[in-house]
Amino acid sequence: MTDPNTTPGIHHVTCIAGDPQRNMDFWVETLGLRLVKRSINQDDPGTYHFFFADAEGTPGTSMTFFPWEGMRQGKVGSGQVSRTAFRVPEGSLDYWEDRFDEYGVDYDERVERFGGESHRDSGDASGDEPRAETVLPFRDPDGLPVELVAVEIPDDDPTVPWTEFVPEEHAIRGFHSVTLWLPDPERTVEVLETMGLEEVGTEESPGDTPGDERTRFAAAGPVGKYVDVLPTIQGGRQGHGTVHHVAFQTPTDEDQTAMRDAIQSLGLRPTNQIDRHWFRSVYVREFNGVLFELATSGPGYTSDEPLDDLGGRLVLPGQFGDRREEIEAGLTDVTVPRAESAEADD
Ligand code: ZN
Repeated sequence: MTDPNTTPGIHHVTCIAGDPQRNMDFWVETLGLRLVKRSINQDDPGTYHFFFADAEGTPGTSMTFFPWEGMRQGKVGSGQVSRTAFRVPEGSLDYWEDRFDEYGVDYDERVERFGGESHRDSGDASGDEPRAETVLPFRDPDGLPVELVAVEIPDDDPTVPWTEFVPEEHAIRGFHSVTLWLPDPERTVEVLETMGLEEVGTEESPGDTPGDERTRFAAAGPVGKYVDVLPTIQGGRQGHGTVHHVAFQTPTDEDQTAMRDAIQSLGLRPTNQIDRHWFRSVYVREFNGVLFELATSGPGYTSDEPLDDLGGRLVLPGQFGDRREEIEAGLTDVTVPRAESAEADD
């Protein structure tokens, strides 16, 4: 990074699911993401941790889940990531609506953002003003609100589409944004700005339940670039179908230390660095209660499995490796969906 206090964008988003097989089937087969890591929750080894991403597990593409089967249904509300949005290539939303019909996915009518008359740019000359975009909102089988946003994917885009179930011209290409519902956005905005995100525009947002005004902040990188903020006091609770935390990229340890110090100077209390095996992490609960993580780019998902074999087996990091038999016995069996053409190659 040129400026150590500027994040390139979202690194991953971690959510709470119920049934692990249902979660796997939806995110791999219906949405076409690649299972890049099948592991356990390092704080609760009786629970899986699934990582769904692009073909190479590029930072900015992985949606991860803890399938906590015994937990109650959650409710999206204030102090949470309320929506997680993915990029899809321009012109692909018809394909996705047809696919959602075929698979029985619960989706809403498309929404236009930042194209209407209520939209105001923030007025700077950065060239980062939000462009008009079309959004297809839907829910996963646990009721998690997700969106597909049609965007122009540049030729040099860092993401690599996974094409086992969805063809390249329609495939999901990493995160577009997260939306935060906040009772008192001002102090969270201060955190986002400390992390190098800049306000780029605002508009009235009739498509959102508590919808007042949507303000967009942009990070420096090409993927997972946006954080949208909406003020709301609508109460929520954590459980199935809610986001657990959002992680932002701090590519190197030095970047992470600088960012951690900057956040701490606001009066927040970040954790020390924790080794998450595929990246190193710092966690901080920001002023409105949303759990943020800072995650390094390395060592990455290919540090313990070859690229071709990602997700093929249960990976038990570090000290958990000695307890494989016991841990496997405590987990529900799951099958990774395979396309028929892929099976024929085996
Ligand atoms: Zn995380």
